[in-house]
Amino acid sequence: MDGEVRRAPRVLIVDDSEDSREVLRVRFDATGYVTECACDGAEALKIVADSPPDVIVLDVMMPRVDGNEVARRIKADPSLPFIPIIMQTALDEVEQKVRGLSAGADDYVTKPVEFAELEARVRSMLRIKALQDALQRRESELERANAQLLELAVSDPLTGLDNRRRLDERFHEMFEHAVRLKEPLAVAMFDLDHFKQVNDDFGHRAGDEMLRQIGSVLRASMREIDHVGRYGGEEFLVLLPGTALDAAVTFAERARLRVAAHRFSFEGRPFQATISCGVAAWPDQRLVNRDELLQAADDALYVAKRTGRDRVVRYASAEFTANVRKSHDQHGSGAPAGGATVG
Ligand code: GH3
Ligand code: MG
Ligand code: MG
Repeated sequence: MDGEVRRAPRVLIVDDSEDSREVLRVRFDATGYVTECACDGAEALKIVADSPPDVIVLDVMMPRVDGNEVARRIKADPSLPFIPIIMQTALDEVEQKVRGLSAGADDYVTKPVEFAELEARVRSMLRIKALQDALQRRESELERANAQLLELAVSDPLTGLDNRRRLDERFHEMFEHAVRLKEPLAVAMFDLDHFKQVNDDFGHRAGDEMLRQIGSVLRASMREIDHVGRYGGEEFLVLLPGTALDAAVTFAERARLRVAAHRFSFEGRPFQATISCGVAAWPDQRLVNRDELLQAADDALYVAKRTGRDRVVRYASAEFTANVRKSHDQHGSGAPAGGATVG
């Protein structure tokens, strides 16, 4: 096969008769094969397990573990590659041939063995093995590629966190679960403060690095069962199952402080960042579905931006109510510039 390493094929000769083994060994050696011999089934199985040969020439009649049993065990072992087995049967015993082939032999020759015929059958089996091996390689490459694609479809390449699509899926699952079990579910929407300035002052690559590091800080601040993902360009969403509003605010506040205390660095240059957050939780009689829950967190984030940044604002708190954008703000000329989350 193209791309195959062209080494001498390894033949394992299994026969309890030393004379028979020797005759075959000498002929195969002389024809350019690498030979190995086993004097019974147990020894053959051990050699196969240690280092699978390319083809096996197998005697049927052997004491203890006979040829049929050897074939059966080799073909039943999923960890082994395809190893063609050529059975040697006694002349004209149809029943023996049928038993050998059902046990897993791929071909047979009748004793006394005509070497030219045996060698031709070995070559034909090696051709099949080459195709089979190539197929197996292709298959495992395909499996690897599929796993990679799956990973790409659900993760954000910059931060390695869940992407928005996966977050939406998880949010959906968690919300269903919360409703079914009447458990609370909180969401915290984070947005970097003046991030545009970071890009302008330090460059886009520094901004990217900051996003990565903030992702790590957020992840380190939450519990195992929580989920963080990159919701948008510089927005992170954390889903907190089984968490009521107070506890979610405590979490968000801890995360905010950690970000503010974190010394970011890019190419040896240190810089700092702050982050704003809006928190909402279900159940809440004002929020009838998960879209409204998410919108509530987003509205609270907007208030956090509007009231100074580097803050956590809880949905429906007094300052929320005092500062939340009214619907006419979004459409009229009164919409404040630089608001983080119009939408
Ligand atoms: P605010 O405090 O109001 O949120 O101000 P801001 O500057 O953070 O917000 P604004 O929405 O004005 O700007 C967001 C910036 O985030 C602009 C955009 O270039 C940057 N950004 C979005 N995604 C990425 C990214 O993947 N990498 C980098 N480096 N910057 C990004
Ligand atoms: Mg921002
Ligand atoms: Mg933003």
